[in-house]
Amino acid sequence: MHTFQELGLEERILQAINDLGFETPSEVQHKAIPVLLESDSDLVALAQTGTGKTAAFGFPMLQKINVSSRTTQGLILSPTRELCLQITNELKNYGKYFKGLNVTAIYGGASISDQAKQVKKGAQIIVATPGRMKDMISRNMVDISKIEYAVLDEADEMLNMGFYEDITEILSFTPQEKNTWLFSATMPKEVASIAKEFMYNPKEITVGHKNEGSKNVSHEYYLVNSRDRYQALKRLADANPDIFSVIFCRTKRDTQKVAENLIDDGYNAGALHGDLSQNQRDLVMKSFRNKQIQMLVATDVAARGIDVDDITHVINYQLPDEIETYTHRSGRTGRAGKTGVSMVIVSKSETRKIKSIERKIKKEFVQKDIPGGMEICQIQLMSLANKVHDTAINHDIDPYLDEINALFEDASKDELIKKFFSVEFTRFHNYYKKAKDLNISAQNSSTKDGVRDEKSTRYFINVGKKDGFDWMSLKDFLKEKLELGRDDVFKVDVKDSFSFFNTESSEREKVFAFFENFEHDGRPVNVEITEDKGRNRTRNRGRRRDGGGDRNRRDKSRGDHRSSSSRKDSGRRSDRRRSKNESYRRSESRSSSERPRRNRRK
Ligand code: ADP
Ligand code: MG
Repeated sequence: MHTFQELGLEERILQAINDLGFETPSEVQHKAIPVLLESDSDLVALAQTGTGKTAAFGFPMLQKINVSSRTTQGLILSPTRELCLQITNELKNYGKYFKGLNVTAIYGGASISDQAKQVKKGAQIIVATPGRMKDMISRNMVDISKIEYAVLDEADEMLNMGFYEDITEILSFTPQEKNTWLFSATMPKEVASIAKEFMYNPKEITVGHKNEGSKNVSHEYYLVNSRDRYQALKRLADANPDIFSVIFCRTKRDTQKVAENLIDDGYNAGALHGDLSQNQRDLVMKSFRNKQIQMLVATDVAARGIDVDDITHVINYQLPDEIETYTHRSGRTGRAGKTGVSMVIVSKSETRKIKSIERKIKKEFVQKDIPGGMEICQIQLMSLANKVHDTAINHDIDPYLDEINALFEDASKDELIKKFFSVEFTRFHNYYKKAKDLNISAQNSSTKDGVRDEKSTRYFINVGKKDGFDWMSLKDFLKEKLELGRDDVFKVDVKDSFSFFNTESSEREKVFAFFENFEHDGRPVNVEITEDKGRNRTRNRGRRRDGGGDRNRRDKSRGDHRSSSSRKDSGRRSDRRRSKNESYRRSESRSSSERPRRNRRK
């Protein structure tokens, strides 16, 4: 076990470390700090997110600069404004016992003259995003001609974001004899070439192993208008009746609000964030572990310690600021050999982020459509049918059977089935029959999708995961059987016992002809067209499908659409659960008239 004392750090820093509660140096700190303190050498350090890199370069930089001078001596370049602010904050904490220390953050989207003023006061350390830094150099607002230490933090990410030229230009304003410390999670060609070009004989350290995204997780994104985020979330939940998920929001406030809304709408949801007491958090986690909570809405910080194995879905209600956070989030599912799905609800302006995440995690996202209302009704109905089919008979009902039988004396099996399922179906159907299409086409894919949607047909087919299919194998299967080309079967969506897919409408005949007497594993395969209203979104893309009256309609019916069968259980237990959930809610939640509560009304 190593200590911070052994690394050669001075008292002022040790004191701050003590205040921060860091007990032992992390691996990258233990490897980098002595090297940086003792030698004037360049450094390349490969270490994953969350390994403590900020302190690995921050401590030595603080110890080496001269705080009684007002000259800028250290420059840290980092890819995003958020990271920039985070590093600045950390450095201020590390240097809290350095009198006269001025660490200034420079980033876009805030007043450039305020930042210039800060620098002018004598910033010994500047933490900057490349774009704004370049800007300020060209306006003579900063002087980095005397810096002694340059840090390229998250170098791979900066290059991914296209900052190569900015970085090159910025470095050309710095002195030759400075030391450059490069930190990166990975070492792609571009990073290696930066190292080669700008660094002299760098020492190299590598830490730990890669934390690439789990192989068992597939990544999906759903493009909607920001204002439809919540509706989209509900549909994703409804389209996955057995969902057991963590939903990530960016702020405590959003976390609380989304959880409250879900609870009001009859879902088994709970909130987990830092404003709850430890006791409340323990209760939520307990309910989540024993699956009384199916949808845990959480902040990144609060969810950090979640170690539940069978989470089926991670839903990014909002994308995180930092790409690395996405990896942490999606890593909550697909554990212990199981498969999982990480879903992202994005608005148009965020689609760029999807691309950078893809590069980072080296996996591709599949763009999917938020399921339409009728599709969800179908899913719920089939899920119920399967549940009924698989239910073991409870003979405690025997004493009541005579009476029930008498009631249905004249009903045929067919009629009985129809009535039984109508009970649940009608509930969902009423809620969803007028539901609008929440999808918006991405700008660059709109033509392709748009043209398609006009002329494509969506089918329901009664084979699914239980028959050994996933979306890729079903697509291959259909392509082969129907003798269709690569892209002629699309939007394949595989559920447990059934699936959906699209073809051009002109292929309809072919599809039906093929499946007419088709059997899979001895079972007849049934294909139907599924109604998906409002799919021809090219015509009024970008506009709301319904008029202003829609809002009322939705609000009124909201909260009453959850099928009781889709909840794990009902009646008294869920009332108990609700009161538990209620204790996490703020007192000023909406009036019950605006949002009818299911449990109470039953
Ligand atoms: P990275 O830049 O590698 O992603 P950070 O420097 O942001 O990681 O550190 C991640 C978190 O760990 C921060 O909250 C930081 O305060 C904390 N941390 C850093 N070093 C230590 C340490 N030695 N002991 C405990 N916590 C630490
Ligand atoms: Mg960092």
